[in-house]
Order: sequence, then C-alpha cells, then structure tokens
Amino acid sequence: MERLTQAIKEHARECGADLVGIASIERFEGVAPEHHPLSIMPEARSVVVIGRRITRGTLRGVEEGTQMSHYGMYGYDWLDNRFVALTTFRTAEFIEDHRWEAVPLAPLPAQIPASGIPVRAGLPAPNVMIDLEDAAVRAGLGEIGYCGLFLSPRYGPRQRFQAILTDAQLDPDPILTEAICTRCLAPDKLCPLGAIQADQESTLDVCGKKMVVAHIDYGLCRTCKNGARPNAYHNAAPPDRLAALCTRTCISQLEKAGRLENAFENPFRKRAPWAAVVKWEYKEGDLDL
Ligand code: SF4
Repeated sequence: MERLTQAIKEHARECGADLVGIASIERFEGVAPEHHPLSIMPEARSVVVIGRRITRGTLRGVEEGTQMSHYGMYGYDWLDNRFVALTTFRTAEFIEDHRWEAVPLAPLPAQIPASGIPVRAGLPAPNVMIDLEDAAVRAGLGEIGYCGLFLSPRYGPRQRFQAILTDAQLDPDPILTEAICTRCLAPDKLCPLGAIQADQESTLDVCGKKMVVAHIDYGLCRTCKNGARPNAYHNAAPPDRLAALCTRTCISQLEKAGRLENAFENPFRKRAPWAAVVKWEYKEGDLDL
C-alpha cells in the first residue's frame, strides 16, 4: 500500500492540502465509541487527516484591531466550508477512484451532544463525533500545546483540519516525538482574563505521546473580547480561539523562538497587539510582553 499512500498524499497536496497525515485505526484504541471512527465505519483501517493553513496575513487585521471580518471568512468559515472541504472531498473521490470507500468528516466539534438514540444495542447514539485535532496527533501532524491549541511544526496553531475514514490499509505516519510548545510565557501573559489555568494542568497521553496542558476555562473564553468567536457549529463546543490574543501571542512566541518551519522575513508582532480587555500595560517597543 506504499504506492497508494503516497498517491493519496500527492493528490491531497495537489488539491491544496498543506498537511496530510495518516493514522492506522489501531491508533484509536481506547477512544470512546461516541468518538471512535469504527462507530461510523466499522471496516475503517486508516484515517487520513488533511489540514490547510490559516495564512498569517489572515490574522493581520485582528492583530492590528482594524479588520475582524476577513479572519471570519478566510480563517474560519470559508477555510472550513470551502477550501478544506473541497480538498478533503476531492481526496475522498481519489480514494474511491482506487476502489476503496472514503468517508469525509467535516470539522464538527466532538463536544456536540448526541441528538438521537442508539439504533441497535451496543451502538452509540447518533451523531458520533470524531475529535479531529486528536486525530491529527494520532496521524503524526503535531501536538496539543500547553494552552490547549493544536500545534504543527510548520504553522504552530495556524491550521484547520478535516479527515477521511477509509477501508484502505495505508501506511501510517510516525507520531511526532519532538515538542513544539516551549511553555514560553506565564499563562497570565497569554490570557488577560485568567482563562489559562496552570494550577489545574493535566497530562494528555495520545498513542504514548505525553502533552502537559493547562485547564482552559472556556466559560471565560466565551466572554472574551480579544478576538475569540462563538463556535460556528455548536454552543456546547469551545469558542474559536485561533484569532484571539492568546493564539496570536503563541504565534509570535513560536516564531521568535524559531520553532516554525513556515518562517517570514518580518516578525508577526511588530507593535503592541490589539486587545479590548487587558490587565497589564504594554510598553512601547516591549514585544516580549
Ligand atoms: S480566547 Fe480570550 S479568554 Fe480564552 S484564553 Fe484566549 S485570550 Fe484568554
């Protein structure tokens, strides 16, 4: 299956994918049936995770505090529902052209509660929701950073994912072993509302990859006026934080530390960032916060 694996990845990239990773179904051992790929496709052998970047410039208007809407389109709605969706669907078509079934998975949050009753004994209630960022870790694409954001070596927190379940037995990618998150700043320097809570940190273990994460008070994030948005799919899911002050600071810090492969001529943070609610004073020229 090595040739098919490579062909699928090349096709996904030709269709616009920036990130493609493959997890074998065995990597989902221990996942609850309510979130397990086999609950949707019992014959699934592989999970193909596809990501496209949020371009850094998409965040510029939010960072400067002058234009919030373009992020909502190029960074969230259109990126999810047009760009990544098309890349995912065309890759699913390619897989089916090679005689293997391909189930495309939209980026519906795993927190969406069941909306029905089990159709048979032993089955979870519909709708089963797969955690796509968890799947991306299992597919070797990155890690969950200390602030609860998915981080890839190429883009840090700047990407969105969809996935495909298939009965094709593909070659899995290795789990990423090196850490991306440096835990660079104290949580109160990342979040002025105190939503990133180090006193309640925990350790995630995904396929043996251990990741220490702070507790995130999403109730506070839902009140955030620093670039967070309501979740586009369901109120039960965490708000979208990818343009919020915490994420923009994370991007700035990872770039300064030289941790990201997608490097730029000029730094992301050039002056004090826009934020509506802060507890500290930015000093002119103090880009280290
Ligand atoms: S989204 Fe807002 S409240 Fe939540 S961690 Fe980020 S900056 Fe803090």
